[in-house]
Amino acid sequence: MNRIVVVGASAAGLAAAETLRREGYEGPLTLVGDEPHLPYDRPPLSKQLLASEWEQDRLELRRSEDLAALDLDLRLGVEATGLDVAGRRVLLADGSEAPYDGLVVATGVRPRRLPGEGAHVLRTLNDALTLRERLEPGLRLVVVGAGFLGAEAAAVAWRLGARVTVLEPAAVPLAHAVGEEVGRVLSRAHLDRGVDLRCGVTVAEVTEDGVRLGDGEIVEADEVLVAIGSVPNTDWLADSGLAVGDGVVCDEYLEAARNVYAAGDVARWYNPLFGTSMRIEHRTNAAEQGMAAARNLLRPDARKPFAPVPYFWSDQYDMKIQAYGFLRGHDEVAVVEGDLAERRFVAVYRTGDRVSGALAVGMPPKAVRLWRQAIATGALWDESVPAPAQRS
Ligand SMILES: Cc1cc2nc3c(=O)[nH]c(=O)nc-3n(C[C@H](O)[C@H](O)[C@H](O)COP(=O)(O)OP(=O)(O)OC[C@H]3O[C@@H](n4cnc5c(N)ncnc54)[C@H](O)[C@@H]3O)c2cc1C
Repeated sequence: MNRIVVVGASAAGLAAAETLRREGYEGPLTLVGDEPHLPYDRPPLSKQLLASEWEQDRLELRRSEDLAALDLDLRLGVEATGLDVAGRRVLLADGSEAPYDGLVVATGVRPRRLPGEGAHVLRTLNDALTLRERLEPGLRLVVVGAGFLGAEAAAVAWRLGARVTVLEPAAVPLAHAVGEEVGRVLSRAHLDRGVDLRCGVTVAEVTEDGVRLGDGEIVEADEVLVAIGSVPNTDWLADSGLAVGDGVVCDEYLEAARNVYAAGDVARWYNPLFGTSMRIEHRTNAAEQGMAAARNLLRPDARKPFAPVPYFWSDQYDMKIQAYGFLRGHDEVAVVEGDLAERRFVAVYRTGDRVSGALAVGMPPKAVRLWRQAIATGALWDESVPAPAQRS
């Protein structure tokens, strides 16, 4: 392998670049990113940075001297606009191109938007700084979407004294991901604090005064944050011939085409542990997948399937939420420890006859980490989960 290019200079792309060097690749290594900043961490954007507890320098993923030690051809503020797989080159917006023998695609996702102008989204450092400037006591903030991102931002805005309304199309927020019971617990955290959470409400557009709902009603706001999910950044691959369908489609080794790998939020790959294809927008997965893609690219003879137990966390109000596994599409949820009403519990998830996930709220990390092993080994539900009468 003589030349390697990584496109996307964030969690997954940086992890790939570092791994290539750590594993002994000494050749030319280009890291392309369209944001002007050095690689930074996104989870604090909706938490510590939005709350003004941290400044942006704390988000940097590496110090500049550590980046320098990687001996990268670092092209920041430059967008990749096309990929020529046969010619093995990435086309860049400045008119130049980056030839490669091996490529890692790590271009992440961007926020889904609503019709109308003037709403905030929350994906980049600039997005977070712009929203943060507006947050002040008494501000009327409408958050569209009560997913993890919307809930975190609503919690911070409430803490800063804003009057927060959250509009959510589903009857129970996050029910599709964590189940109805757990979704209701998370909803109550908003309602208990006087955040106006309205479920079963669709938003048609953003207007000058706030948002217009599907039934025509206007909900007035000083600022609107749209947090309704994201779209993989694959437009630049449209003419490449790579299979793209809600992400770059990869096999279990994260390979999309010969010597072209994908990692992070943009990658849809077959996870053999769960026997299904998935695309995951979690911080830990992005780094682990970047490392795995780099290793497989570098050592094709020793490559390994990427079969992780996904992990994510979220901080909302005083709740620390942690989860392992693949919760979507589950068949059953059981609370095995603690109490939903106290917002202190561990819930485990069954898919088919296996334990497929575990989620904890307000519990020490080890309480949920215990279940990681059960998920990793495909443990049978009946043998692992105590019967209802024996649950604490
Ligand atoms: C506000 C916020 C809070 C979050 N909180 C949590 C959390 O609490 N827990 C958790 O597990 N996860 C959380 N996440 C998710 C986590 O941050 C992501 O999973 C992670 O950042 C994904 O890393 P990535 O490198 O795959 O993609 P990204 O971080 O999206 O990076 C992709 C990079 O590629 C660039 N790019 C895109 N297209 C091109 C192109 N054509 N050319 C060049 N560059 C391009 C992008 O601008 C970006 O810099 C959060 C995300 C956000 C936005």
